[in-house]
Amino acid sequence: MLLTADLTDVPVLVLGDPADARRAHHRYTAAGAEVRAVADPAELGPAALEGVALAVIVGTALRRWRDALDRAGARVPVVQEPAARPGGRVTLVGGGPGADDLLTVRAVQALQDADVVFVDRLAPSGAVDLVAPGAEVVPVGKTPGHHPVPQSRIQELMVEHALAGRAVVRLKGGDPYVFGRGAEELAACAAHGIPVDVVPGITSAVSVPGAAGIPVTFRDVSRMFTVASGHVPFSEAELAHFAGLGAAGGTLVVLMGVANLPHLVAGLVRAGADPATPLAVVERGFTQRQRSTVSTLARAVEDCAAAGCGSPAVVVVGPVVRLATAERDAFLAEVTAHGC
Ligand code: SAH
Repeated sequence: MLLTADLTDVPVLVLGDPADARRAHHRYTAAGAEVRAVADPAELGPAALEGVALAVIVGTALRRWRDALDRAGARVPVVQEPAARPGGRVTLVGGGPGADDLLTVRAVQALQDADVVFVDRLAPSGAVDLVAPGAEVVPVGKTPGHHPVPQSRIQELMVEHALAGRAVVRLKGGDPYVFGRGAEELAACAAHGIPVDVVPGITSAVSVPGAAGIPVTFRDVSRMFTVASGHVPFSEAELAHFAGLGAAGGTLVVLMGVANLPHLVAGLVRAGADPATPLAVVERGFTQRQRSTVSTLARAVEDCAAAGCGSPAVVVVGPVVRLATAERDAFLAEVTAHGC
């Protein structure tokens, strides 16, 4: 349930088993309400009802609570909501490429249910307060070369909170399993017998090029794409693989690739790629400051230095990049004239 009302100092009854009602309790408290919790219908007395503006029945015992309210003579609006899911579990949530409205419905549901949310830097953190009011929010974001909370500590915290019986959400940018350390976190939880759900997210590897007008595949132009992490320089074998991908018309997408861009483009050309191959750097996708720098392998280092390209950005290499240039319509006409 989304709760955006300001209920400052409004007395609200939250009726239900404390474990079931814990999320409702946190949400109404976060909205400013004076929450009065009652666990059992037999305990509903006049003191709890004094001045109450709203009763929230949590769980399925609707009839018993309604009867108890009637017996006590309470005349208040009643809302019902489902019991919070049991805690003691972790949900790895892919938050998409950063825009709040690119969270999936399932991601929103997991956040609504969370007692604690560990949030990455590139996750849509603005949505958390709205969707999960009252949840404890712990920023654990990393920037390139700066990890204020080390990955091992993040995993320890997730495990500690889940073992304490809380519903833990780990909110990540993009998809948890695309350079998101999702598998490591899964392993850490599995080692303690903690159940884990994984909610997929829209990966920046596909969506950020798309936001810049670049489809990673295009019939008769590119029918394959590879997504690589440029976090550490590529080996000669990897560069040779990418050059082969390019020779087959495929698209190369590199995340975390800005710092090592000179190494990438030099390595691709050394491995036989055509220096005229189009390349784009798409920075800060889905923000007001999204920007594309379109170039070629031969000119990319110079052009990106002149533009001052920085992280976060997605690098795209291949003929599909021509769709982000002024020659787009001519290119589309040329390609579609040949096939389909
Ligand atoms: N799991 C994420 C990727 C994490 S690695 C996913 O599936 O998208 C982080 C890298 O993703 C950044 O360095 C950058 O290369 C890319 N990235 C994520 N969000 C981005 C955005 N909004 N704009 C540009 N690049 C982005």
